Amino acid sequence: MAEFVIIGGGVYGAGVAWWLAEQGAEVVLLEARKIGNGASAGPGRRGTRANGRDMRELPLVKRAHEMWPSLHERLGAAQFFERLGHLLLIERDQDLSTCAARALLQNQHGTETHMLDQVQVRDREPHVSDKVIGALYCPLDGVSDHTAVTGAFATAGRRAGATIREDTGVDRLEIERGRASAVITTQGERIEVGRTLFVLANAGVEALVADRISLPVWSRAFQVMLTVPMETVPLNHLIGHVSRTLAIKAEAGNRLMISGGYPGNWDAERETGTAIETYVQANLADAVAVFPGLEGLKIESTDADHLESVSVDDIPVIDLVPGTENALYAHAWCGHGWAIAPAVTKMLAEWGMRGRRPALLAPFSHARFSG
Ligand SMILES: Cc1cc2nc3c(=O)[nH]c(=O)nc-3n(C[C@H](O)[C@H](O)[C@H](O)COP(=O)(O)OP(=O)(O)OC[C@H]3O[C@@H](n4cnc5c(N)ncnc54)[C@H](O)[C@@H]3O)c2cc1C
Repeated sequence: MAEFVIIGGGVYGAGVAWWLAEQGAEVVLLEARKIGNGASAGPGRRGTRANGRDMRELPLVKRAHEMWPSLHERLGAAQFFERLGHLLLIERDQDLSTCAARALLQNQHGTETHMLDQVQVRDREPHVSDKVIGALYCPLDGVSDHTAVTGAFATAGRRAGATIREDTGVDRLEIERGRASAVITTQGERIEVGRTLFVLANAGVEALVADRISLPVWSRAFQVMLTVPMETVPLNHLIGHVSRTLAIKAEAGNRLMISGGYPGNWDAERETGTAIETYVQANLADAVAVFPGLEGLKIESTDADHLESVSVDDIPVIDLVPGTENALYAHAWCGHGWAIAPAVTKMLAEWGMRGRRPALLAPFSHARFSG
């Protein structure tokens, strides 16, 4: 029996465990494999970007932007965040007006954003192609080391008294008289829930809530690739693109990480993914199109081993499990759940403690799918 039981040891589960434990709550986290095994793991770093986000996520990312620079101090860890600024590159005339509208919206939500013209983009990124005619620039965006952050949440959570059990998968929830009373592990162990259950298993959420709700949500193994080391890295910012499936980050050892959302193949039985070669080439071709100096650059490794859940409207689903008053679930981060994690884990912990949904999480209710 524990006051708070959490299923899933990615950044969401580990983060909620820490926020709760540091307030003196009794917490047990159950992770099927190891901490930082799913989407919160893998090569490189994750972007912490407001640029181009859905309007409903902007208040969340604003709060996360305030937290990222000093989060490591609160967790007693080495710095894991770097504020590089994000450039959403523009090549087509028609994207200038939509990006200008986005700049207005992001500023109205308190996130400083600028429209840059061609010359201003080249001042910031001298190696960018002449075809780039502008960019949406958000100086507060950056990158953080997802493996370090997830590990730091878990370590700080343990230090604050949370019990973190790895190799402990949950098979099902036990729900009685409108409450999640316990979870049953794959080994048949019954763990009672004293107060609140958090179902934060990302791609594993769907199966755990399937007998209560059907959601327009699926899972994707997004593929990423790392280049061989370069003499010098030709980028100064986190790079995205408004009309190409493309993200580029500078990584350790003068490598580039090239990604953006191409799906790999997922083997559900083995729980591993493999990158699809045509997408590797398409992703690389897009990178070369906007940074022509990358022509001929070799890919050193690819990765598609990390499953992420995705929703039909490209924003997360965060709500009570139907028919319960004490079981919260959150998933469908749609490939951009990392940036908002510090803020959303805190809000989830507050919801679990106080029993009241934070107003900023209301837009993510599953009620939006049923009209
Ligand atoms: C390749 C890739 C690149 C990304 N890039 C970015 C980016 O640049 N910026 C951004 O903002 N976001 C990005 N994201 C998204 C972000 O990483 C995720 O949204 C975030 O890490 C999700 O965290 P999580 O804790 O919900 O899930 P996960 O990290 O997947 O953790 C869920 C955990 O639950 C466990 N689990 C599953 N089922 C069970 C069960 N039944 N019982 C017990 N445990 C269970 C799993 O083993 C797993 O460890 C990216 C995602 C991927 C895959």
